[in-house]
Amino acid sequence: MPKPNLTHRSWAEPYKIKVVEPVRMTTREYRERAIAEAGYNTFLLRSDDVYIDLLTDSGTNAMSDRQWAGMMIGDEAYAGSRSFYHLEETIRRFYGYQHVVPTHQGRGAEHIISQILIRPGDIIPGNMYFTTTRVHQELAGGKFVDVIIPEAHEPASEHPFKGNVDLGKLEEVLRSNPGRVPYVSVAATVNMAGGQPISLANLRAVRDLTRRHGVLLILDATRVAENAYFNQQRECAWPIARIVHEICSLTDGCTMSAKKDPLANIGGFLALNDEGIAEKARNMVVIYEGLHTYGGMSGRDMEAVAIGIEESVSDEHMHARIGQVQYLGEKLHRWGIPIVLPIGGHGVFLDARAFLPNVAQELCPAQSLAAAIYTDSGVRSMERGIVSAGRDPETGEEHKPRLELVRLAIPRRVYTQAHMDVTAESILSVYTERDRIGGLKFVHEPKYLRFFQARFAPVPVAKEEAAEKRTSPLTVL
Ligand SMILES: *Cc1c(COP(=O)(O)O)cnc(C)c1O
Repeated sequence: MPKPNLTHRSWAEPYKIKVVEPVRMTTREYRERAIAEAGYNTFLLRSDDVYIDLLTDSGTNAMSDRQWAGMMIGDEAYAGSRSFYHLEETIRRFYGYQHVVPTHQGRGAEHIISQILIRPGDIIPGNMYFTTTRVHQELAGGKFVDVIIPEAHEPASEHPFKGNVDLGKLEEVLRSNPGRVPYVSVAATVNMAGGQPISLANLRAVRDLTRRHGVLLILDATRVAENAYFNQQRECAWPIARIVHEICSLTDGCTMSAKKDPLANIGGFLALNDEGIAEKARNMVVIYEGLHTYGGMSGRDMEAVAIGIEESVSDEHMHARIGQVQYLGEKLHRWGIPIVLPIGGHGVFLDARAFLPNVAQELCPAQSLAAAIYTDSGVRSMERGIVSAGRDPETGEEHKPRLELVRLAIPRRVYTQAHMDVTAESILSVYTERDRIGGLKFVHEPKYLRFFQARFAPVPVAKEEAAEKRTSPLTVL
């Protein structure tokens, strides 16, 4: 046994485990049947058939004992709930926005802000689309225009802030569409680019540009604390709480999914500084979500979100949270498995084009890879490629995104390092067998957000092709 190296000190989570939830182990034969029955769509698997669930970090957080205690003292009054005022005060304190409109989750807030601000024919520039954000912009008659820097579309580019806005592109959009841009939509971090952060410097420049053009800046704050961790590591050494406040102060309002950063299982809100827009939002929320002091959340949910927000901006929490994501990503990278670099905040993203070069984009390589990983080990991941990108609502043409990714999203405070090891080993095993993996074709394609409910059938690789392209066995470090 080699002696431990004392210059290296291991790191561990800043919590201990009080409650456990057993998970079910299945056989490969069982999983082959389960994924076929699910139409090769990991969204359609039953969670009981999943061993390690990396489908999403949304609503899958493990709540703290303080949050659970908060659930007990939640105030379930229909109007004027104490838990709403706790949430409002917490949002003002940590994010700095004046007006808070609670919603059942993030897309509820996206729906309301889109309906209020967008008129038919408007253009909404943003640092890469997000599925629900874009669909609400389109349903309001708007058109999303991507103004993220080109590096964001390059899986191998190691730009430290791949979530940055291309300022030249944004200025061009603002200049050539006067009066047609109601707001600029900025996400921190950028989910679809692989959980990549935007820099404070870039956000300040975006703020200047939008001010000069008299256009609002709305933040997708879903993972703003994760973004702040990267700002802290790469840009300025402030505490995360201070960076989060700074990011929010550079914008006019935000939509938030409390199922991500705020460490809750459900919830969301719209937060704004402008009283006039807030008044319109309070008016709309009663139609679609619930009264303006609960917006679709129960009192206990609002209590859990309020406490979770405070926990989410702790330096120690975020170090552990992103440290675990980095641990998995670095392991895969060391083994030569193609992933998006730098490793993002909420998950590791496999580059399915490089992983399965034999599978054409039309045959949904990322969807197929996610199905193969599930079959190998019961690890559930998700497609972020041509299936998620959907179709252009006007032409009906498929969007063909440059990024064809499989996302391994890591739920917050849920899994251990051993789960990360098992996951990495399964992906390595699939990688060594990759020339046997074919594509998938749609057999059912829903109109909206098709990735959630689509069903597929396998398109096997031609035998000769597989033999031809067979590469020499991988050497593993
Ligand atoms: C999850 C998510 C949303 C939507 O929030 P929901 O709570 O799922 O409705 C919006 N933007 C981003 C970046 C997200 O990750």
